[in-house]
Amino acid sequence: MSESSSPLRGATHLECTETGERLESETLQGLSPAGKPLFARYDLESLAGAFTPDDLVGRRADLWRYAEVLPVRDPAHRITLGEGWTPLLDAPRLAGELGVARCWVKDESQNPTGTFKARGMALAVSRALELGADVLALPSAGNAGGAAAAYGAAADMAVHVVVPADTPQPILEEIRAMGAHLHLLDGLITDCGKAVKEGVREFGWWDLSTLKEPYRVEGKKTMGYEIFEQLGRRLPDVIVYPTGGGTGLIGMWKAFDEMEAMGWIGSERPRMMAVQARGCAPIVRAFESGAGSAEYYEGATTYASGLRVPSAVGDFLILDALRASGGAAVAVADHQMARWVSRIGETTGVFAAPEGGAVAAAVPVLLEEGVIRADDEVVLFNTGSGLKYVGMSPLD
Ligand SMILES: *Cc1c(COP(=O)(O)O)cnc(C)c1O
Repeated sequence: MSESSSPLRGATHLECTETGERLESETLQGLSPAGKPLFARYDLESLAGAFTPDDLVGRRADLWRYAEVLPVRDPAHRITLGEGWTPLLDAPRLAGELGVARCWVKDESQNPTGTFKARGMALAVSRALELGADVLALPSAGNAGGAAAAYGAAADMAVHVVVPADTPQPILEEIRAMGAHLHLLDGLITDCGKAVKEGVREFGWWDLSTLKEPYRVEGKKTMGYEIFEQLGRRLPDVIVYPTGGGTGLIGMWKAFDEMEAMGWIGSERPRMMAVQARGCAPIVRAFESGAGSAEYYEGATTYASGLRVPSAVGDFLILDALRASGGAAVAVADHQMARWVSRIGETTGVFAAPEGGAVAAAVPVLLEEGVIRADDEVVLFNTGSGLKYVGMSPLD
């Protein structure tokens, strides 16, 4: 079907990821009544056969090519800066260094604002506009704040970003340059979260915290659709993902379920690997102990700011996907991330963020553990540009 003539635009409802409770999708909704993330649901039964991979050929080269499975109803409400449809780079020399048969780098550094946070914010801000939010706000460790500021500016909506005072200078400059209201707090991201909650209560701000509104995950799920298309309509053996809040991993897992429901794939899934920092590894700890959810990680430290997330509201969804796929969770040290940033650079020409370095550093460990095999085809996520971390490497 051609995208413009699609009669099936938008979600049918929202669903609590824990209880399955259904909620109305066309008003602003945060968490479910049970305090858990909400997923947007679509009429996939009607889309099966009516929306196929053939329909995507020749469509726009951004994430809006998947309009039928996105929640924005009116194309006029799409706030876009060219997010998504990033390259999946064949990396044979990196594969050789890592000891796997084939390795691809999904290079998310080529998104607007230099990280894949752009995908989530494109959807969250578009929906906030569509559903009548007034003022946007979020606590951030950095990159989400930059993306929220950019998409808020594009939408001509006011944005309040609350960040720790020690947030890297390049990110603070980015947020200021986009005209957002920048609040610096002496404290951690969790303290910033409390400040945003007060703004929500007192001034009616709309909270864009990840998985506390239903649409950032819809933007990030498009990475799963893209990998399928870019590999010639199939999925890899393994996906290795740097996990903070886990939004991308949860989103891709949701995308695979949607693709199966539409008849694009069968029940096969890639094995999903979550990589965290030694200094902040709540998901790794929970995975290893067999727990269904993660405990708050005290004293979180790592220069990979995207991984400095001591507590994730979607922890149980991450752990479910890792276990259901036959995947694993592993932590790597900051100096290993930095070393692999250089190896990725030397073998591919991509200047990776430390989170991208972490993913490569994890592969030899996962091979050793036997959860990745030498004959596997592996997709590695580089989630951001090394340019956003200049001056922060522990090897400098
Ligand atoms: C936010 C961020 C991550 C973590 O992403 P989640 O989907 O929230 O786990 C990884 N890398 C970078 C560069 C980030 O900004």
